[in-house]
Amino acid sequence: MDDKGGIESYDVVVIGAGISGMYALIRLRALGFRARVFEAGTDVGGTWYWNRYPGARFDSESYSYAFSFDPELLEEWNWSEHFAGQPETYRYLRRVAEKYDLRRDIEFNSRIRSLEYQEAGQDWITTTEAGKQVRSRFVITAIGILSTPYFPPNPGKETFKGRSWHTSYWPKEPVDLTAQRVGVIGTGATAIQLITEISKNVGHLTVFQRTANFTKPLRNQPIRDEEQRALKDRYPEMFGRCKQTFGAFIHDIDPRSIFDLEPAARREHLERLWSEPGFGFWLGNFMDVFTDRKAAEIVSEFVREKIRERVKDPAVAAILTPTDHPFGTKRVPLESGYYEAFNRPNVELVDLKKTPIQRFTETGLDTTDRSYAFDVIIYATGFDAVTGSFNRMEIRGKNGQLLKDKWAEGPQTVLGLQVAGFPNLFTVVGPHNGAAFCNIPRCIEQNVDWVTSALAHLRKEQRRTIEAKPDAEIAWTEHVNGQVEQFLIGQIDSWFMGANIPGKKRGFLAYFGGAPAYRAHCSDSVAKGYEGFEIS
Ligand code: NAP
Repeated sequence: MDDKGGIESYDVVVIGAGISGMYALIRLRALGFRARVFEAGTDVGGTWYWNRYPGARFDSESYSYAFSFDPELLEEWNWSEHFAGQPETYRYLRRVAEKYDLRRDIEFNSRIRSLEYQEAGQDWITTTEAGKQVRSRFVITAIGILSTPYFPPNPGKETFKGRSWHTSYWPKEPVDLTAQRVGVIGTGATAIQLITEISKNVGHLTVFQRTANFTKPLRNQPIRDEEQRALKDRYPEMFGRCKQTFGAFIHDIDPRSIFDLEPAARREHLERLWSEPGFGFWLGNFMDVFTDRKAAEIVSEFVREKIRERVKDPAVAAILTPTDHPFGTKRVPLESGYYEAFNRPNVELVDLKKTPIQRFTETGLDTTDRSYAFDVIIYATGFDAVTGSFNRMEIRGKNGQLLKDKWAEGPQTVLGLQVAGFPNLFTVVGPHNGAAFCNIPRCIEQNVDWVTSALAHLRKEQRRTIEAKPDAEIAWTEHVNGQVEQFLIGQIDSWFMGANIPGKKRGFLAYFGGAPAYRAHCSDSVAKGYEGFEIS
């Protein structure tokens, strides 16, 4: 593996051993490429390795989330619940690593510090935090969209003498919260799962909420033995459906307007969607709920009523009821008893809109109203989404240009897969990529298939480089930004818009044209000889 300069050399370096990196390695090996994967964690799993907080579980149906590429794997694995918990998903991904003997090509505990394009050799030098360097013709970033944790900027964080961590750095050893005074900051999808779970046996829990979220009951169930066979028999049909739906889920947007139905029929329809498991109430709702504030308001009010019914104290219910954004314009968390947690005597809710956090202290934190003392403070404060994990690395392309500088005013890509000035670098599930708003493994498989086929194409044609063309980059960036404007999701502050990070340039970070349209763009490019890309 050593090249003349004495450093290891590969065809492809893959960064990250989550679902994208694992599948990339499987495909690259199958195509005969020599690949090396670098992973910051000590094991495979990515999101499902890091996010081991209590209550972490799928919001996608387990069977729709699994890898689909190998019928043998599909047949072998039995999901125990319709929406599996993190321990089971992690076990699944470990089994995949074992089945395909992936670990021998993965270096764990190896966070990447920098990537540098060498114009002379037309290859990349990858450097780990520990200083190890490898050379490769191609680099695939498989770093996920939610892997750079965000901590609020309040002063004094280091002075706190108790235990404290971000949800995605939950300790690997068991944490006993009984008899502990715990503060949780944040009420996003992560916090909602966490609060529900730990409220059951925590000493005292204080939840600090800045913005109330619209949620939907998950309605999880175990998968009964007799269901297992039927689910497996339906895999081809189900994956076929996921290829056709907007978000690659088993649910799809209803093309009708909410105003096509009379109020009574509308109510009945919403109640039915509400009673179903999973994302159907969001991603199976009427089309205009995503585009028209009046339509969205009907659904918002429906959900508000459900919240009020479940929270005993009207003052607490009022804080938990969102009023500042329409339903569905942020990622809708699915919950299993979240509101009931606030009916417990050991759970307290603090409205940060009224009394913001001022500082952390040795014993806890101060709001503008009072001091709170804790044994444990948990940050459920989200992530510097999509671009955050690119910015953590020093990625230098042609002429030493930093990717971070190039993207300072927002990402620019072709298909969310390549960047002009950064040849042979592929951003799987990167910004402006269809996979960033998707039932993610479905889109990961598409992304990785596209990239690895491109590499095989280059090899067959005996070409050395592939690079996004500047004009195609302008066109795709304008398409992505223009496309989302018609949707409410593009008008509201959320991590999709980069709006959760102070100072981050506001702009949609994913692609909101739907998975089928995204796939069509990718296939079209190939059919037209990799239109939008310079192959040389
Ligand atoms: P998030 O949705 O960004 O929520 C972060 C929370 O922290 C929000 O409540 C936010 O309040 C709060 N926060 C941020 N900065 C704060 C500050 N300075 N002071 C007080 N509060 C602050 O992050 P997340 O809950 O980790 O979820 C991120 C994404 O991960 C989800 O949208 C979802 O895509 C994914 N996820 C998926 C699953 C699943 O599939 N089962 C589970 C969990 C998460 P504001 O709203 O006011 O900013």
